[in-house]
Amino acid sequence: MRTEILPIDENSLRRAKRIIDDGGAVAFPTETVYGLGANAFDNKAVENVFAIKGRPNDNPLIVHVHKDYDISELVTEVPEYAKALAKAYLPGPLTMVFKSCGKVCPAVSCGLDTLAIRVPSHEGAQKFLKFLNLPIAAPSANVSKHVSPVTAEHVYSDLDGRIEIILDGGKCSGGIESTVLDCTGDEPQILRSGLITREMIEKVAGSCGEYVLKEGEKARSPGMKYKHYSPSCQTMLFSFQERSKAVEEYDNSRNNGVNAYILCDDKTAKSINADKVLNLGKTGEQIASNLYEKLREGERCAELIIAIAPEEQAGVMKGVMNRLIKACGN
Ligand code: AMP
Ligand code: MG
Repeated sequence: MRTEILPIDENSLRRAKRIIDDGGAVAFPTETVYGLGANAFDNKAVENVFAIKGRPNDNPLIVHVHKDYDISELVTEVPEYAKALAKAYLPGPLTMVFKSCGKVCPAVSCGLDTLAIRVPSHEGAQKFLKFLNLPIAAPSANVSKHVSPVTAEHVYSDLDGRIEIILDGGKCSGGIESTVLDCTGDEPQILRSGLITREMIEKVAGSCGEYVLKEGEKARSPGMKYKHYSPSCQTMLFSFQERSKAVEEYDNSRNNGVNAYILCDDKTAKSINADKVLNLGKTGEQIASNLYEKLREGERCAELIIAIAPEEQAGVMKGVMNRLIKACGN
């Protein structure tokens, strides 16, 4: 099978619909990362998405719907705080987990009685979802555990030959996956941090918990337990405070003939003495937006990526740190 990258227009949307209606999968852009979507009512099609990616079959998928889709068709209870959050932040990079009413096929939630739903704000994603008018189950459009794709070319390099088409919506602006929020309890609880921060959720919902996976406990959000987002080269991760140790490691590696690069934000890049730097940018939003692109650039040009964490750790940076630790930590 030859994989084609297509601009989003009437022709490509018609083709995407044919593929989805036939039980296939289509890659499409969102404001976070590219997704690999299949009909959430079609169990075989959803199982096929797991197979294409090599995704473990206990890591549930997020269902994507267009902004006018009535989600009460898919879930039972939507608490008041969730309605307020939806009003404030949707469409946008916030996934909410509710009790499922069982209409979506079992493969989507890997047998859990809950369903994760998201309404992406990307114009191309909205066009695709509206054209299909179906709930679309979609993980990120990369080979499982590899760095998530933020351009159509990234999807192509992972999935060429495994899918028919990639709808090209340019570079994803957000850059890290959506915030996943458990909305099944009395107060919302963050299962995965992202661009919609805890502070933003607290502002609307009044309070917000944060789920931390404890040693030996069954993960509430199964994706938490897996190594993720990893480039194919060697990696190391240092804190901002350890940056001189990171530079020492970089110098030693280069002196020993290892093609090492430093991955860090602009502030650190300006304060260290190193030539080969993958610069993530200045603000939290820039750093999130550039993270996966720079990790993919790094695996193409470097044998070793030495990542230095930004000094700032709050807000958006929480989501960035979560990805950085999973990509470059031990
Ligand atoms: P990905 O599609 O790779 O961005 O991963 C989706 C994330 O959403 C994973 O961390 C899953 O564990 C989480 N997720 C999806 N569905 C559910 C659900 N029903 N309950 C809890 N977490 C979920
Ligand atoms: Mg993923």
